[in-house]
Amino acid sequence: MAQNIKKIYLHWTGTSYDWAEPGHYHTVILGNGSVKRLTGYDQPLKAHTAGRNEESVAIAIACMGERGWDDYPPTAIQIENMCKEVALLAFQLGWKPDEINIYRVMTHAEAAANRDFPLEKVKQVSEWSYPTSTPQAERYVAKARALGMPHENYGPDFWFDGWPAGFFERWDLWQLKPSERRGEGGFILRDKIKKYLSQMDVPEISIKSNSPAQPNECKVYLDSQVIATGYILSDNRCYVQLSKLTAAFGIPLSVNSELGYINLLTDKFQPKYLADSPVILGYRVVDIYMNRPQDARGEIISDSTHPARPFMQGIIFNKVTYVLVADFCKELDIPFKFQSSDRSVRLSLSSNKK
Ligand SMILES: [Zn+2]
Repeated sequence: MAQNIKKIYLHWTGTSYDWAEPGHYHTVILGNGSVKRLTGYDQPLKAHTAGRNEESVAIAIACMGERGWDDYPPTAIQIENMCKEVALLAFQLGWKPDEINIYRVMTHAEAAANRDFPLEKVKQVSEWSYPTSTPQAERYVAKARALGMPHENYGPDFWFDGWPAGFFERWDLWQLKPSERRGEGGFILRDKIKKYLSQMDVPEISIKSNSPAQPNECKVYLDSQVIATGYILSDNRCYVQLSKLTAAFGIPLSVNSELGYINLLTDKFQPKYLADSPVILGYRVVDIYMNRPQDARGEIISDSTHPARPFMQGIIFNKVTYVLVADFCKELDIPFKFQSSDRSVRLSLSSNKK
């Protein structure tokens, strides 16, 4: 990866359930559980976790806006899907379940409280009452830096296990619901992530049909020609090999195997950036971009002020990238319909692209 990911920070956004704007967090999970990968994990972002933004990833759940617990508390599905998304990334990074610890995966509440630093050091930059914006806080930051920490303790003012108090400027995921012990959120999340990571060996949905009497293959047509054979997986959706779809529409495709993404190079289509990333345990997920900057030799050009945004994701089986045919068509404005009589998908060249 272009950035060497050492830590994954978990946030809430302090918004309503449907907030997902790029530039803040790599990924946002909406209240209904939809996963929006806004920036590929190989690119650093500048401002998610103070003093800690490099070589890290930020994943957030959209919630806790207005009156927090009363208006937009975290939903069960968004917590589970955040943990699945972290497990998918950890799997890609080669992390093992027993390596999911506070040094690799922390909530913003825990990061703000420097819970990955030695207690004796953190005590010296805790128990303060001035918020970050006051001149007094400058001295705290200077002291933290002198002690070799990225920042003072600006986390919650109480922890169930006696960790020193901060001035409560950030408390993301300190709790997942108010009935929990105060500060327990990160521990609960890491347990869930470990569980999902240990389930990666057995795919959550299967590719091959379980019964020969019910084949799950699905022919994909462009007008009258068969362009691919897809699979209707056990989630009842049709997955098709991406390169067959792009070939049929004459879209050149470049694979960056080092960073693990695919770049479509065409000006014939404008993606809508509405597709959700699949959260299916057992498969690697690959980001798919349209015209991510790369020079004439194929070298990637990046800038953290203008991170590139994937328009959809695929999953890999047998070393081949598959996408949901419905998402691909919706993103690129390609008319399509399922035909139940012969279980096929019918795509057409829309009139304005002929
Ligand atoms: Zn945060």
